[in-house]
Amino acid sequence: MNPYSTQCIDQDDIDSVVRALQGAHLAQGPLLEAFENALAAYLGVKHVIACNSATSALLMTYQALGLAEQIAITTPISFVATANMLLACQATPLFCDIGADGNLDPARLEEVYHTCAHPQRIKALVSVDYGGRSVEVEALRAFCTRHQLYFISDSSHALGGSYRGQKIGALADATIFSLHAIKPITTAEGGLIATHSTELYHQLKLLRAHGVENQGFHVEVSGYGYNFRMNELQAALGLSQLPKLDRFIAVREEIACFYDRLFTDNPYFTPLHASLPAHITSSNHLYAILLNSNLWEKKNALLQALLDAQIGVQVHYKPIHTFKLYQERLGLLHLPKAQDFYQATLSLPCHQKMTLALAQYSADTLLALCAQLSG
Ligand SMILES: *Cc1c(COP(=O)(O)O)cnc(C)c1O
Repeated sequence: MNPYSTQCIDQDDIDSVVRALQGAHLAQGPLLEAFENALAAYLGVKHVIACNSATSALLMTYQALGLAEQIAITTPISFVATANMLLACQATPLFCDIGADGNLDPARLEEVYHTCAHPQRIKALVSVDYGGRSVEVEALRAFCTRHQLYFISDSSHALGGSYRGQKIGALADATIFSLHAIKPITTAEGGLIATHSTELYHQLKLLRAHGVENQGFHVEVSGYGYNFRMNELQAALGLSQLPKLDRFIAVREEIACFYDRLFTDNPYFTPLHASLPAHITSSNHLYAILLNSNLWEKKNALLQALLDAQIGVQVHYKPIHTFKLYQERLGLLHLPKAQDFYQATLSLPCHQKMTLALAQYSADTLLALCAQLSG
């Protein structure tokens, strides 16, 4: 099975982890800070905090920015962790519908804000760079400035991507990345928070490790924290993966462009990547297509036939507001663009270990199946 995404581990990654394993420190040591500094330099941001997952990174960020008992506007088209961690810190997600690119639609934000029963409790906007394609940062930032909201970017898909020549990570008040195995680079499991704010950085460091402030032998705890640390084996893997990130992205971009050419003017679906604007560089974590509506009721058959042909397709994502948990908390919400997106979307294999021959096979198989199912 060719998966929709997978890790790429070379001998030097293995060597790097083995060296760390033989070193003096396994839990806390010098590699973590070296990894964080390398990331800060790469992203062009003042501070980077590494931790054990993007989910932990989201929770710490929401908590540090004081979202408890408050409201955050967010997107229904994401991995559930984006909204789950709002619930975990007693915040309420306020879902805004998406645009044709799968990202929050900037044109809908004002209406969502003004139709909220408690607009004074809205404290943040949490966006997601769907599939690795940046949100329209300028429009989102202008909205946040207008209403004095924190701009939090769940860029779990988008490490290495950019917006108007600037790396994603330096554009929001806090940007979260995932280093899970199948994300753009990996530490097996891991997460990052990038921020220009030194105050936020210090709060996050306390939350990451028990809330303990150390000054020599003087120890103090003024607020509780967790153990969300990244260990030295993970940092060692991250340090050897990071220099390869741009190459990984170049390979995925080549595959995405190759798919786009094969899919030009086909009568069955639209690939999202084909409409990527010139001012955005996507990490292409996902290569998603949107099936025309006449194929929606055939989608399960199509997915199964693709899996039978060893093509590891997946659906990203079932809209978060339609999960039982969210229906119980928030009632039945009507977000027609997100619901249509869910009917239409599927993700094809696109990763740095894939050949163009495999992409050709996936594309040919998909087109043939679409023709068969439309007939
Ligand atoms: C993968 C992902 C997460 C969670 O990342 P972990 O590192 O596995 O905790 C959160 N948000 C989005 C959008 C993701 O894709």
